[in-house]
Amino acid sequence: MRTAVFSARRYDQSLLTQANAPAGHELVFIQDRLTAETARMAAGCAAVCVFVNDSVDADVLARLSAQGTRIVATRSTGYNHIDAAAAAKLGIAVVRVTDYSPHSVAEFAVGLLLAVNRKIARASMRTREGNFELEGLMGFDLHGKTVGVVGTGKIGVIFARILHGFGCSLLGHDVDANAHFEALGGQYVGMPELMATSDVVSLHCPLFDSTHHIVNAQSLAGVKRGAVLVNTSRGGLVDTDAAVQALKSGQLGGLAIDVYEQEASLFFQDLSSTIITDDVIQRLVSFPNVIVTGHQAFFTVEAISQIMATTVESLSDFEAGRPLRNRIPA
Ligand code: NAD
Repeated sequence: MRTAVFSARRYDQSLLTQANAPAGHELVFIQDRLTAETARMAAGCAAVCVFVNDSVDADVLARLSAQGTRIVATRSTGYNHIDAAAAAKLGIAVVRVTDYSPHSVAEFAVGLLLAVNRKIARASMRTREGNFELEGLMGFDLHGKTVGVVGTGKIGVIFARILHGFGCSLLGHDVDANAHFEALGGQYVGMPELMATSDVVSLHCPLFDSTHHIVNAQSLAGVKRGAVLVNTSRGGLVDTDAAVQALKSGQLGGLAIDVYEQEASLFFQDLSSTIITDDVIQRLVSFPNVIVTGHQAFFTVEAISQIMATTVESLSDFEAGRPLRNRIPA
């Protein structure tokens, strides 16, 4: 099946080509993001393969449909970038990758937490300059602290398990209880209590209308003073302006983010020689107690290999008329 692969970086091209070898789909790699302007590049492609910052809204879907696209496959778990209802109306199937190493993201979230708390990136920058001073590098023990996990699904529960191993107490907030989380001694509480009691808050729920800005000025006003916020889920979960204010006032003691609300125009590209016009991200990276990474939590050999294998499997199942295991409901 002729498949347009948008936002295709070198690693996407090599690993998807490898995974596709037995199936033999015709892959057309496109470096650009999918937008209303670039949708025409998928002309004649029955399948379109996208990533998290591609725009798959109703307008783009209508353009794709008019050009003959019948399936959209996202190389991600989250699908907030796809208007699934509009796709259903147009008869376009949408698939994602539900099961790929949740360890990749959970382990990265722990890494971010350690890095921001123990100032590891800052210390490394200092030693490269020949500065071995410890002033400004003090962190706190995670052992004995309370960690709030928002969204205790596949990733959240692994994150919780790792921090349980560190000797932390666990609080959770979710619409559904997870027995594995409770087996770790995790207790479910409302968001205000979780924010008020946790020394560390880590976000692992999907971005829905109901979770948009789940961390906002009001909830940050109630956060335990000096708490660290980690977000490896989706940028839209956090009102970034409110987080900047909370950092300035010291209410938030640290912020570690792999995702950012306005990341679509920034992430997955080298902008080091250009003038970045987004003042919020520039302000964020200027704080000594903030770490920003460019949506790389999923980026392990195991996770990417699984993402590519599942994507090819979905394309093949669709072409053969078999049921789609990873179909997104409208
Ligand atoms: P999952 O579906 O297994 O778990 C999500 C959990 O969030 C579920 O337990 C669900 O009940 C809960 N939830 C839903 N609505 C909620 C609400 N209103 N409040 C609190 N909890 C709520 O998903 P997962 O595999 O653990 O992935 C979680 C998220 O991680 C994804 O949606 C995606 O946004 C993000 N993610 C990020 C990366 C990255 O590279 N940074 C990679 C993969 C996934």
